Amino acid sequence: MANGEFWNQKMEKLPREEIKELQLKRLKAIVRYSYDNTSFQRGKFKKIGVTPEDIKTIEDFQNKVPTMLKDDIRSERSATGDLYGGSLAVPKERLSFMSRSTGTTGLPTLFVDTEKDIETSSEQVVRAIYALGLRKNDICFLTETGYLCWELPVKRAVEKIGAKQLVFNTFFLEEHIINFPNWLIKVKANWFHTGTRILHLYNQLVSLMGNMKELLPSLKFCSQSGDILSDPMRNRSEKCWGVPVYDHNSVSEMHTWGWECPEKDGIHWYEDLLFLEAVDPQTGESVGPSEEGDLTFTVFDIEAQPHLRWRTEDIGIIKTEPCNCGRTHARTQVLGREAFSVIVGDKTVHLRDVEDLLWSYPETSFQPYQLVRYKTQPQSKLIIRTALTPTVEDKQAAKNKIEEDMGKKLGLPTIINLIDESEVRVMGHKMQKVLVKDKE
Ligand SMILES: [Zn+2]
Repeated sequence: MANGEFWNQKMEKLPREEIKELQLKRLKAIVRYSYDNTSFQRGKFKKIGVTPEDIKTIEDFQNKVPTMLKDDIRSERSATGDLYGGSLAVPKERLSFMSRSTGTTGLPTLFVDTEKDIETSSEQVVRAIYALGLRKNDICFLTETGYLCWELPVKRAVEKIGAKQLVFNTFFLEEHIINFPNWLIKVKANWFHTGTRILHLYNQLVSLMGNMKELLPSLKFCSQSGDILSDPMRNRSEKCWGVPVYDHNSVSEMHTWGWECPEKDGIHWYEDLLFLEAVDPQTGESVGPSEEGDLTFTVFDIEAQPHLRWRTEDIGIIKTEPCNCGRTHARTQVLGREAFSVIVGDKTVHLRDVEDLLWSYPETSFQPYQLVRYKTQPQSKLIIRTALTPTVEDKQAAKNKIEEDMGKKLGLPTIINLIDESEVRVMGHKMQKVLVKDKE
């Protein structure tokens, strides 16, 4: 099926009108299936007096089907005692995989797959990694975080290409983790994927090891996930590894898998397999193209947990104009989690806005930092707690300079509070970049 740079050229270059036709057919089917087989969706539809027959157009789907949040499943779980919150659509005997979310925004939720669901995920993965240049007999060196959601769909996709997968768990002891770059060299890896925090650690290690282009000439590309890939982080990583570094985003509960393509102009999603929209975080209403909104997914052909309009709580922008790579499907630029942004005056500041600037100064580059978010929004000032590069001598001068420059560039009153790096908590593969406080 592979052709040139495309794993599935026909679908990846499908004209947008045909994508829309296919989506309507598949949306109707998943609405019907979810309604018939889950008490969670049936309950929601009945409450607002909507039936699957009412969904005749894509607009009907967006206007009539309520969006859902992870908290809805948690509430249903508490109310009913059902571990799946009424969202399981198949008998438990049909499940082939169970895992849990990372719990970034609250109690982790359980998510499960049938064999077919793993296939749906792996089709998204195989198109993406083939586009990045992974080929038969290549070696993939993947560090996973212990949440296991990476294992099956990626393994399946790598097998389809005929490459080999080596998975290293980052819950190993630190002395093992710091040996991973040596392992990459020994096995002549072609693709390295890891989480943002580990990439940051390895950037420091490999920059001391020497020129990675010479030490590891087999490496074609790296990719990362877990947190935003800010411009300074990407630039530094590419300099350290000598290859392109791509961003990846997945929502484990939703079987959504997206990577950037070599154009690095947003993460690609395959809309013959899923419906992507951005909604207003307050009203849940769909926003127009190129407007900021909560990225919301409905994946077709899902058997185990057929969620409809799942809000990821990641704020982003959707672009639908064709990419220079030739793919016709939508791309997203993620700005940061909704819970991790602050509103100062009438302006929303996302983590990406902060990190792109903060990590561009030598005094604070790649230092642990936190955005202070007050429970009541908006707040009057942008407050950033950050550590300084250990070599900075005049701390006050550095603070003043950054405060002034960031304030000017963002157009907002900005306060920099200096902290020790140990004050920023690390949860699994993520740094806690937001500190919530009661009131100003
Ligand atoms: Zn592209």
